[in-house]
Amino acid sequence: MKKSTIAALWATLASAVLAHGAPAPKSVRVYVFDCGTLEHMDPARFQLKKEEVGTDRIAVACYLIAHPKGTLMWDTGAVPDAVWKPSGKPVTQRITLPDSSERELTMAKPLSVEMREVGYAPADIQYLAFSHYHWDHTANANAFAGATWLVRQEERDPMFADRPTPLTQPTDYSALRNSKTVILKNDEHDVFGDGTVIIKSAPGHTPGHQVLYVKLAKTGPVLISGDLYHYLQERTLDRVPTFEFNADQTRATRAAMETFLKKSGAQLWIQHDFVSNAKLKKAPAYYE
Ligand SMILES: [Zn+2]
Repeated sequence: MKKSTIAALWATLASAVLAHGAPAPKSVRVYVFDCGTLEHMDPARFQLKKEEVGTDRIAVACYLIAHPKGTLMWDTGAVPDAVWKPSGKPVTQRITLPDSSERELTMAKPLSVEMREVGYAPADIQYLAFSHYHWDHTANANAFAGATWLVRQEERDPMFADRPTPLTQPTDYSALRNSKTVILKNDEHDVFGDGTVIIKSAPGHTPGHQVLYVKLAKTGPVLISGDLYHYLQERTLDRVPTFEFNADQTRATRAAMETFLKKSGAQLWIQHDFVSNAKLKKAPAYYE
């Protein structure tokens, strides 16, 4: 056997071992993955002006919560790994939505590669939850069909309706139809039963939109926003996007979450906010 073939075999074997080899951490960790950057966003969609936001780029982040008792994947990106090829340099990728509108993204690394680098494969993940069903959160959902899906009935129903709900990409999550599913009925769902990882109902952007509270030993508590806000300026200037499922519900949810943030002392991570997301450390680094 050629030396290069043996080296390739070893590399495959090593990554296979590593992919299933991440030991359970002693305390909760959050890995932030770069799942791309959405380009040329129109701030008017968020009732904001270009000069108010400063950038027309929106971050797409995915999160892996590693808990001593298991794992939770929170959101799975905007571009499925299978449809683009990494080149070592940023790749421009266009996505066509079911309504024929197009979006442009800049991609750096496939999610599965980012996960493998910290010792996980999608098939290892125990729980899957989305902040909501929009296409830019569900791209790699099918890869997690073996996980237990944590979702609200009012969110799941429109995902599998005969006519796709706006801004969904049903082919990206079709395999979840048969996944083991837990329908969340309460405002709060304590994922691992010890109060450290809690999915909170936050409707308005979509019917069953939710946010994720994670209590970290060193970092302190964090609230991962979903699309409760996209830009930091939606929060500071009090603007609601033009495409909410229910804008009044969004306002009520935001008020409740602001109260919760004050009471809990949690910091808010706005998933799509390009400027604040850029400041977060990305995997393989993690928050604990
Ligand atoms: Zn989004």
